[in-house]
Amino acid sequence: MRTVTHFIHGTMAPLAGARLSDIFDPATGAVQAQVELGTPALLQRAIDSALAAQPAWAATNPQRRARILFRFKELIEAHMDDLAHMLSSEHGKVIADAKGDIQRGLEVVEFACGIPHLLKGDYTQGAGPGIDVYSVRQPLGIAAGITPFNFPAMIPLWMASMAIACGNAFILKPSERDPSVPVRLAELALEAGLPAGILNVVHGDKEMVDAILDHRDIKAVSFVGSSDIANYVYARAAQNGKRAQCMGGAKNHGIILPDADMDQAVADIVGAAYGSAGERCMALPVVTPVGQETADIFREKLMAAIATLRPGIPTDPDAQYGPLVTGQHKARVESYIQMAADEGAEIVVDGRGFSLQGYEDGFYLAPTLIDHVTPRMKSYQDEIFGPVLQILRAQTFEEALGYPSQHQYGNGVAIFTRNGDYARRFAADVEVGMVGINVPIPVPVAYHSFGGWKRSGFGDLDQYGEDGVRFYTRTKKITQRWPTGGAVIDQSFVIPTMK
Ligand code: NAD
Repeated sequence: MRTVTHFIHGTMAPLAGARLSDIFDPATGAVQAQVELGTPALLQRAIDSALAAQPAWAATNPQRRARILFRFKELIEAHMDDLAHMLSSEHGKVIADAKGDIQRGLEVVEFACGIPHLLKGDYTQGAGPGIDVYSVRQPLGIAAGITPFNFPAMIPLWMASMAIACGNAFILKPSERDPSVPVRLAELALEAGLPAGILNVVHGDKEMVDAILDHRDIKAVSFVGSSDIANYVYARAAQNGKRAQCMGGAKNHGIILPDADMDQAVADIVGAAYGSAGERCMALPVVTPVGQETADIFREKLMAAIATLRPGIPTDPDAQYGPLVTGQHKARVESYIQMAADEGAEIVVDGRGFSLQGYEDGFYLAPTLIDHVTPRMKSYQDEIFGPVLQILRAQTFEEALGYPSQHQYGNGVAIFTRNGDYARRFAADVEVGMVGINVPIPVPVAYHSFGGWKRSGFGDLDQYGEDGVRFYTRTKKITQRWPTGGAVIDQSFVIPTMK
């Protein structure tokens, strides 16, 4: 059986006697490979490699670093098909969606190609008599990234391209459920001209994550995953004096006002709720129609749309979405459907028990629709992360605004309306980090930044965009005065001021 191993200093780095974790083929349910779980000693090999390579990389001028990123981007584009198939075979998302995963990561690589401009500092001439002040952005040294299973290309690329562009070495610890694409991306970066040691990939579970969090040579940690672990990573990293940006789970709401373009809203919501089997942190798993009539029209149109959906194998071009990532995750999603029923919600469409002919052991779940959900239900409060859409009815705009604002998660939210006044008030007041107005999945483009609020994001800097540059650099502030040959300036025992 194939074993996925670590990638250190430009080469595969197997670990003798490593613990192994199964990698499934979600389409068939079979174990297709195993990944080696690393140890603190293995991490030390990656650190030694990064320490050796980073000073020269930091000293490489930013334009040269950008040229390597350009070549990296071109290589990813040239390998798009292979990468998408590799990604789908471990994750389960359909090929078109896997290409979207890679493309959204690629867009951050493109942004990182602008690093010469992004790293320009500030300069003040004449801040005092003969005094100039300037600030420069310097790399941190070694940064690490810990990533989730659901975007095995996009999220590693968000982090690695920004960290590397800024002159750091980057150690990536991808999800053990779909680790092959991250390793392949590191190989392509090497082929693009990135020096060995600047992008190392180590695999593992909690043991490896803890080793990263405790290692004094790692100066910053980027994490994306579920909220409890994001919180844990944030706290332990901070305790060890590291910078941390830790993105967590989500429960995004789609608010539908009575004047919305209902057919468009339904089309948008079906894609955002069931695409990628609902395994997206920017999915829309809750819909809040305002008013009885809006809810009833929405429900009827949605049921018609659901009836046309077909989960299938990732390579089936007619399938809208594929299987869930593991059997364990499928069982968890099914348990939430049962929980909602037990809590008194109405299971309008039940996706459990779906079987795909010829792939009976695959991890498929048909679309599920649950109505009459209330804020007190645990199935509403928790993230389900599957093809399950819940309807939480509201009577007024204010009530609908309150639900996402009061929810423990605050990643994304969308409002569907033709009324600019309501949309504007909603965007201003809602307690959520990323807002869509008639846009169901408002993932900001690469030159803005990505991040949620509340339990969806721990730390004060977002991913990519200018926040990415701020996170992976530290500013040095220099105040200078040059001898002019004039009289000696009097000694002063008072703090210098601009009085
Ligand atoms: P996860 O939290 O299980 O795993 C994320 C990473 O943490 C993995 O690399 C994993 O190996 C590691 N990990 C797992 N258990 C750990 C432990 N006990 N201690 C230390 N490290 C541990 O998340 P997942 O299931 O891979 O991904 C899905 C989750 O990620 C969802 O909650 C989703 O909302 C979230 N997510 C959030 C965003 C965002 O930007 N907010 C984006 C994508 C996914």
